[in-house]
Amino acid sequence: MDLAQLSDRILTGDRRALARAITLVESSRADHREQARELLERLRGSGREAIRIGLSGTPGVGKSTFTEAFGMMLLGQGLRVAVLAVDPSSARSGGSILGDKTRMDRLSREKDAFIRPSPSQSQLGGVARRSREAVALCEAAGFDVVIIETVGVGQSETVVAEMSDLFVLLLAPAGGDELQGVKRGIMEIADLILINKADGDLKATATRTCADYAGALRLLRKRPQDPQGFPKAMMVSALAGTGLTEAWDEMQALIGWRREAGWWERRRAEQARYWFDQEVRNALLSQLETGTARAALDRLGQAVAEGRVTPGAAAREMLETLSGQHTAV
Ligand code: GDP
Repeated sequence: MDLAQLSDRILTGDRRALARAITLVESSRADHREQARELLERLRGSGREAIRIGLSGTPGVGKSTFTEAFGMMLLGQGLRVAVLAVDPSSARSGGSILGDKTRMDRLSREKDAFIRPSPSQSQLGGVARRSREAVALCEAAGFDVVIIETVGVGQSETVVAEMSDLFVLLLAPAGGDELQGVKRGIMEIADLILINKADGDLKATATRTCADYAGALRLLRKRPQDPQGFPKAMMVSALAGTGLTEAWDEMQALIGWRREAGWWERRRAEQARYWFDQEVRNALLSQLETGTARAALDRLGQAVAEGRVTPGAAAREMLETLSGQHTAV
C-alpha cells in the first residue's frame, strides 16, 4: 500500500490502516521517518480535531479500569475513542501499562475503540514524538476522544500534558491528611483530579481525600485559562461506573469555556511550537552522536581535558564544525 492509499484509508477511519501508520511513525529507520513525515503532512489538512485527554496515575490506582469504563461510557454517547499509552519505562520493565491488552478487554472488542500500547523505547524523547504523531493519526482517523495514558514516572506527565487538551490525574483514596506525595508541579498541570475507588469501604476515605485535594487546589494560583471552579477534584468509581458521566460533563464544560475564550486554539498553537522546538533540539543532540560531530566532540574533549584549549574556545570550535555540516534536521 502506498502512502496515498494509507492516508485515504486512515481518513475513512480504518483501524488496521491506523495501526499500520502508527507502526510507521514508531520506526526510527530513516526511510520510515521520511514516509511518516510525508504521511503526517498529507493528513494535516484533514481538519479533524479530537479531544485529547492526558491521564496519569501511579500503578494500581485504576487507570486501565477507569479508561475502559470511561471509554465505554463515551462509546455509549456515540463517540469514537482511542487510547494510547506513553510509558518511557516500558522498555525496562517489559511493558508495564497496556502491555496486557486483556486489561481492557471490553473496550478492545468495540469497533469504535482503538487501543495502542506504548512503543517499546526507553528514551522519553523518542516515545514523546511517536506518541504525539500517533495522536495526530488518531485525530485524522476521526476519533472524537483520544486518551493518552501515562504512569506517574519522571517527566512523562509533562510530556503527556504537552500533547493534551486537558490533563486528568487519577488518585486512590488515602488515609490521613497526607496529600499522597503528589508533587506540586503535577497538581499545577492537572485540570481535573479524580479520586478513584470511591465505592464500598473506601467511600469514606475517598470523600476525605477528595476534600483534601479540593482544598489544596484552591490554594493554587488561579490560571487565566480556567473558568470558575477549576481545577476541580471529584470522586469516581471505575469499578462501579459512578461519577464517570459527571467527570465527562466537567471536561466538556471546561473545554467549551476554553474554546469560547480562545484558550483552546492558543494552547494548540503553543503546543505545536513547543514540539517544533523539541524536534529541533533532539535532532541537534542526535547529530552530536554521529559521524564527524562525534569525532570532533571526542577530539576537542580530549584537548580540553589535557588543558590544551579552554572549554569555551573548544565549544566555539565545535559549533563551527556543526554549522559547517548540512545534515537535514
Ligand atoms: P492501573 O495499574 O492504574 O492501570 O490500575 P488497574 O486498572 O489495573 O487497577 C488496579 C486494581 O484496582 C485492580 O485490582 C482493580 O480492580 C482495582 N480498581 C480499579 N478501579 C477501582 C474502583 O473504582 N474501585 C475499586 N474498589 N477497585 C478498583
